Amino acid sequence: SAVKRTALKLGMIPADGIGKEVLPAAQRVLEALGSSIPKTTFIPLQAGWEEFNRNGKALPDETVKILKEECDGAMFGSVSSPSHKVAGYSSPIVALRKHLDLYANVRPVSSVSIPNQKSYHQCDMVIVRENTECLYIKKEEISTNPDGSKKAIAYRQITSNASSRIGKMAFEIALRRGAEREAARKAGKEVWWNGEPKVTIVHKSNVLSVTDGLFRESVRAVKEGTDRYNGVKMEEQLVDSMVYRMFREPEIFDVAVAPNLYGDIISDGAAALVGSLGLVPSINAGDDFVMGEPVHGSAPDIEGQNIANPIASIRSAALLLSSLGYVEPASRINAAVDTVLAEGEYLTPDLGGKSSTTDVTDAVLKRL
Ligand code: ATP
Ligand code: MG
Repeated sequence: SAVKRTALKLGMIPADGIGKEVLPAAQRVLEALGSSIPKTTFIPLQAGWEEFNRNGKALPDETVKILKEECDGAMFGSVSSPSHKVAGYSSPIVALRKHLDLYANVRPVSSVSIPNQKSYHQCDMVIVRENTECLYIKKEEISTNPDGSKKAIAYRQITSNASSRIGKMAFEIALRRGAEREAARKAGKEVWWNGEPKVTIVHKSNVLSVTDGLFRESVRAVKEGTDRYNGVKMEEQLVDSMVYRMFREPEIFDVAVAPNLYGDIISDGAAALVGSLGLVPSINAGDDFVMGEPVHGSAPDIEGQNIANPIASIRSAALLLSSLGYVEPASRINAAVDTVLAEGEYLTPDLGGKSSTTDVTDAVLKRL
């Protein structure tokens, strides 16, 4: 929502690995916006696996308190969780989503044009992933059968409340994208999507008729209960067929809404469609708070070398700004990024270039 503010306070949580390299890049870009956004204070905050090893807590109380009491929004880098279970450790990003009620993970995936690069499908979709329930409630049990074999069960929770609110968010995003395309068309810009806005509900209710059935019904009811979304088409895809079609013809999707697990899987897959994880931004959004976060992880294989692609993080900052109501400065950031990619002179190694994180960030700043 576009609240009038005279100042902005943003919590900055680089956390682990390349998060410590790409988050400062995003901050430099935000700083370069100058007076086109309110005077912004950046508050450095701790969280992560490295913080756990230093002070015994992956998410210090202080971090949550400052985010809740002082900040208008936040940026998160990436966290490296150990692959084995470590007593006392649990992922701070999962905890943050819970503390701040960030019930949606919104991931726009759009193809980029880079000279002399393998061409990918035309693709400009937004994946809206439910962030609080499904199999990720982590309620698992294991027992031993009389013959000594084991049985493990995971509970999956789907509620009508969580499903409707994520559905509502998806329809709102579809409305907004429709309006943006309309405005771009009027301004004489090329818009390749000519149809009406569309929401695709992703589920598997032919097999899981109770849980996925409830998800599907709840999202459908969002559209059916109001006239507001009359201009938005609604369709459904079973999750397996969604994966297939996304890889064959991603250009047919506009907004896709999915329960937590399916959303997690299809959004990493969608990132592959556009060429690099280092390009894909996201926001974790609730009704009261927004946190930008690149989709990629901590990338331990390239950490500390100043070669991580900062674009996912920079675009996440743009998403954060636009969801705080600063749409114009956000689109300036995206335009600067698009120009740098289209020029193809400054690209990090994941995109076939030789430039450093700093070079690419400098190039974006110059275009801005
Ligand atoms: P994590 O457990 O934190 O997710 P990971 O080993 O799965 O770590 P990811 O960050 O998910 O690593 O990255 C997967 C691959 O994509 C790695 O090879 C990584 O180097 C590459 N990658 C991810 N983000 C970027 C980026 N911003 N720039 C360049 N390469 C990246
Ligand atoms: Mg990963």
